[in-house]
Amino acid sequence: MTIKKTYIFLSLLVLIAALGYVNRSAIIIKVLPNAVTKVMAGDKIADLGDGMHVALCGAGGPMPSSTRTGPCVAVIANNKMFVVDAGSGGSRNLGRMGFSTGSIEGVFLTHFHSDHIDGLGELSMTRWVTGTHKEALPVFGPTGLESVVEGFNHAYGQDAVYRHAHHGDSVAALSGNGMSTKSFDVPKDGTKVTVYDQGGVTIEMFSVDHKPISPAVGYLFTYKGRTALISGDTTKNTNVELFSKNIDLLVHEALSPELLRIMSESADAAGNSSVSKIFHDVLDYHTSPVEAAEIARDAQAQHLLYYHIVPPLDIPGLETLWLQGVEEIFADYTLGEDGTLISLPANSKEIINVKSGI
Ligand SMILES: [Zn+2]
Ligand SMILES: [Zn+2]
Repeated sequence: MTIKKTYIFLSLLVLIAALGYVNRSAIIIKVLPNAVTKVMAGDKIADLGDGMHVALCGAGGPMPSSTRTGPCVAVIANNKMFVVDAGSGGSRNLGRMGFSTGSIEGVFLTHFHSDHIDGLGELSMTRWVTGTHKEALPVFGPTGLESVVEGFNHAYGQDAVYRHAHHGDSVAALSGNGMSTKSFDVPKDGTKVTVYDQGGVTIEMFSVDHKPISPAVGYLFTYKGRTALISGDTTKNTNVELFSKNIDLLVHEALSPELLRIMSESADAAGNSSVSKIFHDVLDYHTSPVEAAEIARDAQAQHLLYYHIVPPLDIPGLETLWLQGVEEIFADYTLGEDGTLISLPANSKEIINVKSGI
């Protein structure tokens, strides 16, 4: 192509791009209906195929982060979705990942710290109306669950009346609003209790150590030869190691003591002694990234997925500091963020890291 022809070609491209930009609203209006219909007709859960799939609908802790909202883990198996903990932002992240909250079979709470329950009301409400459910959302958890669920049901009571009045029985039958409880006594150390066993999906609860917070539990999921354990909030715990023996996927919380110490000292230097004390106090009831890696190594887990990542790692370079020392102990890990999805196809040893980030 001569220089003149190239110039004409590039000018035409610029002209087409400019025309497209000027008429963008008209173009969007043309393509939008088809695109929206396609999204709405899609079934992301069925698309995943048979197996167990673990998606982080919230990979962070209580502090604000641009990549990690409050703790929320979706486990998809047998075409159903189970959600462990309901941190704020969880239901919106499920939507961004293409998973309808209407498909939630049950919520499983690990403990009642605010960051693990502050999205529960929204999750329950959206599950009700998007799934046109006629029965309340079952919430599983340790004893003590009743007062938490009762409080949410009370707080969302007026909202339920509004939605029923507006959308009617076919969409928002009052029988389906709110949550019901299925609570269990926390099993003794070294033992587990089965809290759900249907359609080949087994979910077992075991105790962890998040003192002084009690009860505090983790969950073990099994489906078609695949296993995933979710630690909940805990210090390095023998139960977690015991029940993670030869597991496919260990989903473990972690907090960096080094970074928290820096934050505590900085708050102190800034004259904010109460925030400094909070950063100092939280050091004693979580697991460090290196300790979680040690559990994965000692239990011979296939893969380790970090979640409940504290502190936020939004500044470049912090991830490297947070992960310091992990690689030498256990190299098969993923540093979770909102949207991380790991698939464990049925009856295989395969571990597919489908996507990271939304
Ligand atoms: Zn927490
Ligand atoms: Zn906690």
